Amino acid sequence: MNAIDLEFDREHIWHPYTSISAPLPVYPVVSASGVRIKLANGQELIDGMASWWAVIHGYNHPVLNGAINTQLKKMSHVMFGGLTHEPAIELARLLIQITPGPLQKVFFSDSGSVSVEVALKMALQYWQARGKTQKAKFLSLARGYHGDTFGAMSVCDPITGMHKLFARFLPQNFFAPSPECGFTQPWDDKYITPLREILEKHHQEIAAVILEPIVQGAGGMWFYAPEFLRQVRQLCDYYQVLLIADEIATGFGRTGKLFACEYASICPDIMCLGKALTGGYMTLAATLCTNEVAETISAGAPGVFMHGPTFMANPLACSVARASINLLLDNKNGTWQDKIKNIEKQLTTELAPCQNLPAVRDVRVLGGIGVVELKNNVDVAFLQKEFVRLGVWIRPFLNLVYIMPPYIICPDEFNKLTSAIYSVIANV
Ligand SMILES: *Cc1c(COP(=O)(O)O)cnc(C)c1O
Repeated sequence: MNAIDLEFDREHIWHPYTSISAPLPVYPVVSASGVRIKLANGQELIDGMASWWAVIHGYNHPVLNGAINTQLKKMSHVMFGGLTHEPAIELARLLIQITPGPLQKVFFSDSGSVSVEVALKMALQYWQARGKTQKAKFLSLARGYHGDTFGAMSVCDPITGMHKLFARFLPQNFFAPSPECGFTQPWDDKYITPLREILEKHHQEIAAVILEPIVQGAGGMWFYAPEFLRQVRQLCDYYQVLLIADEIATGFGRTGKLFACEYASICPDIMCLGKALTGGYMTLAATLCTNEVAETISAGAPGVFMHGPTFMANPLACSVARASINLLLDNKNGTWQDKIKNIEKQLTTELAPCQNLPAVRDVRVLGGIGVVELKNNVDVAFLQKEFVRLGVWIRPFLNLVYIMPPYIICPDEFNKLTSAIYSVIANV
């Protein structure tokens, strides 16, 4: 095996959100298996990140490897224009079965951000087809995160979402405050007032509300009250505005429900899926919509939905997605609900002591997500190094130290994660 050329990496390759001249350090990985990531120096790290929400069944899973190998022997890819295949059909069938009933139509794309672009386009074409061309803006939430492409960026939090940097190019949308009411806090109607007022005043210009249901992820790891989501659904119906649920981070069981919308028993008009869709194996996303949205778009001019990625419904990705969902729903080794409940219990017990540390502002847990919010932003490179020294992979951002491990993690491995969090935060 060749030595990993970190020098070349540093000289020539961009990493997420980093400088090319002064990048944060990166750790070379040679393999990963189960919940363990193996570094080039032989050290193994327990993974607390599931590679950004995606790797729910762990790395190098025999069933998922098998799905890809089987498909690879048939074909890795064919264009989706004018052709179709079983992996796409069977994955779409599964997605329609497990998402809320009215979502009946599926559009496959390459990544979460693109699935959000597709959702925004669907909403715009829907109102275009209904002759309401002035409904061409979106209402989003502060602290929201929907991806890094331009349409998606335009509905991300206006302060942390790069709006200033790209202001002259970016579409202007409406923003309501982030839902103030925490997941378990008692509801008060005052919490919905700001959003209601924006809809009241501007609904004739608004095509859709877009939000992350229950969990605002990259914008601050905040868990909000299901009642907020129920009220948004009602207001969208009342003011004739579509609702787009971005379930890219929350989908496939992470919050304790298969989809976070279930906490409020609501169905969006359009839903975006990604991240854990393929069990973290390959990049794939899907945008689902109701018959009403799909048929309205198709009845209007130009009579078609205007999007079509080159690698649409890639067969390898669809095959592994199908295998990953079947694995999730397979109860042979206990239900996924039980696995998430156990993770939630252990997170709650083992992160609780962090609450007493002077650097900590808040500790919160929902399903398979544990968050320690600090009073101040952390030195990411330093904390990263400390976590690696302790044998765990945890990557904080801003003032947030958080974990969402693969569902297969066992209690001992889990305890290594939470102990590392406590000891590292005790020393900041
Ligand atoms: C990660 C994420 C996206 C973007 O997905 P990419 O695959 O990174 O483009 C969009 N919305 C939410 C809620 C996400 O967590």
